[in-house]
Amino acid sequence: MAQNEKVDVCIVGSGAAGGSLSLALAEAGIKVVVLEVGPWWNPLTDYIHNPLEMPGRFRWNMPVTQVGDRVGRTPHSSWGVGGGMNHWTAAVGRFEEEDFKQGTLEGMGADWPFSYADLVPYYEKAEAQLGVSGLAAGAPAGYVQGKPPNPAHRLFYANQLLKKGFDKLGIPSYSGSVAINSQIYKGRPACNYCGGCSMGCPIGAKANTAITHFPQAIKLGVEVRARSYATQIRMDNRGRAKSVVYFDFNGVEQEQEANIVVAAGWTIESPRLLLNSATSQFPDGLANSSGLVGRGLTCILGGRIRAIYDEPVDGFKGFNLNNLESRHFYKTDASRGYWGGWTFEASSSGHPLSYANQRGRLWGHDLIEHMKTFRSYAALSVWGRATVSLDNRVTIDDQVKDEYGIPAAKITYHFSDNDHQLSREGRRRGEEAFEAAGAKEVWSDGPTRGSYWLGGLRMGSDPAESVTNGYGQTHDIPNLFVVGPMLIPGAVGIQPTLTIVALGNRIGEYIGANRQEF
Ligand SMILES: Cc1cc2nc3c(=O)[nH]c(=O)nc-3n(C[C@H](O)[C@H](O)[C@H](O)COP(=O)(O)OP(=O)(O)OC[C@H]3O[C@@H](n4cnc5c(N)ncnc54)[C@H](O)[C@@H]3O)c2cc1C
Ligand code: SF4
Repeated sequence: MAQNEKVDVCIVGSGAAGGSLSLALAEAGIKVVVLEVGPWWNPLTDYIHNPLEMPGRFRWNMPVTQVGDRVGRTPHSSWGVGGGMNHWTAAVGRFEEEDFKQGTLEGMGADWPFSYADLVPYYEKAEAQLGVSGLAAGAPAGYVQGKPPNPAHRLFYANQLLKKGFDKLGIPSYSGSVAINSQIYKGRPACNYCGGCSMGCPIGAKANTAITHFPQAIKLGVEVRARSYATQIRMDNRGRAKSVVYFDFNGVEQEQEANIVVAAGWTIESPRLLLNSATSQFPDGLANSSGLVGRGLTCILGGRIRAIYDEPVDGFKGFNLNNLESRHFYKTDASRGYWGGWTFEASSSGHPLSYANQRGRLWGHDLIEHMKTFRSYAALSVWGRATVSLDNRVTIDDQVKDEYGIPAAKITYHFSDNDHQLSREGRRRGEEAFEAAGAKEVWSDGPTRGSYWLGGLRMGSDPAESVTNGYGQTHDIPNLFVVGPMLIPGAVGIQPTLTIVALGNRIGEYIGANRQEF
């Protein structure tokens, strides 16, 4: 097996987590190698705004077994340098203060091992790095506010109408935060509202660690090895992580030794890597003395409400998500009869191709009549807090192997009755908002579905109840770290990526300050 010169830190994964961590480490003078299974994308030639082609390009065809309810369209957020941020829709919000102590306050999931206040400086840093655009003030009292460096985008016309509907119902709503430039920021242009965010932003108006973090990290000495698939973390005879084994772009097996190893390959592949790295000393997988590796997998419940107005509203124009936000229903209200709540985010209604399929399979005259309403069509998303269960988990499927003979991940997931109730209610309230806004026809997508995998390598203070401490450092192996949404021990109804970048910065600072001890 080919050997490489030992480095300080080897990170598996180059998304929001790996990108933010790399830069924080490089700024602390630490020598870093990043292994990324996907390619470096060239935004100008690779991001084709063709909805038939682009989703396939971003899909990593790694087999995954799924048992129970399906969550998300694919079990990987993406692949390539930047990870899911290549085609994310860039809605960013800070989590609510209560989200950090959900175990104590609501008996759901577990408390974070630190408070919202502890993360605030890193949220601010993340907002500055990503170039968030949003309101610096103006969200209703009681909800956390970010510190975006760019002004909020104006509300698109469809969302001005929807806001009137919310207003009529007494539901406060306001310009949401997005990591999309509303003006030139750090040399990146302002958004041109082309609407193609989920197919990649060719001009770089949308944040992505491939353009917001890695260029600076590489200048400071970080080495990114694209098309490098990590299959195992090797241990030394003192019970410490020693190296990462990977297949390079030619399919040649290599070993990268490092003083510290970090799993930052997102929510499904990171537990898989720890479980597939089992040794005689760690027979149940690395860092698994609690038995919690892979457990407590959670999603964000997603729902979409759709409306047609009497007039053209051009809901397809503009970036894809969170031009208008409301957290009015976010917190649990026992009088509603179920636990949890959700965020509303007005979304752009999508390209004509997706609209053509909105009403089942239409042909000929029916399809033509349907498409005539395209410009009058608008959409709204619901992001709900899913209940947390340790039975929802990632394990290894010994029966299914990838092309290198490595066992695939197996996801077992079941929505709870509470999840179904909350999803139905979120969709119903969204329909009411469109009706109040004057839409002539309103419908929503069922049944319950989800997005954004979280949990599975939860952080906490008690080694019996968690896999890592508050700095992503595994309780069992002091030089093995985890960064990403896998750390989140509770349920949220707010997209996680801003928080992931904040965590990457916080963990990078911790490793930088304490590296001699690991
Ligand atoms: C269509 C879409 C829209 C989204 N919109 C939003 C949004 O509006 N707001 C929001 O906050 N979030 C959004 N997300 C989620 C967001 O993309 C993720 O939260 C974020 O990318 C997670 O960052 P990460 O670094 O933890 O993981 P990833 O971005 O998935 O990065 C992990 C990287 O690790 C690599 N990798 C995995 N395993 C290995 C291995 N064994 N060896 C080498 N490399 C490996 C993967 O290829 C990947 O590039 C969206 C996601 C999708 C798919
Ligand atoms: S809408 Fe804006 S952020 Fe999205 S792809 Fe177009 S220019 Fe980029």
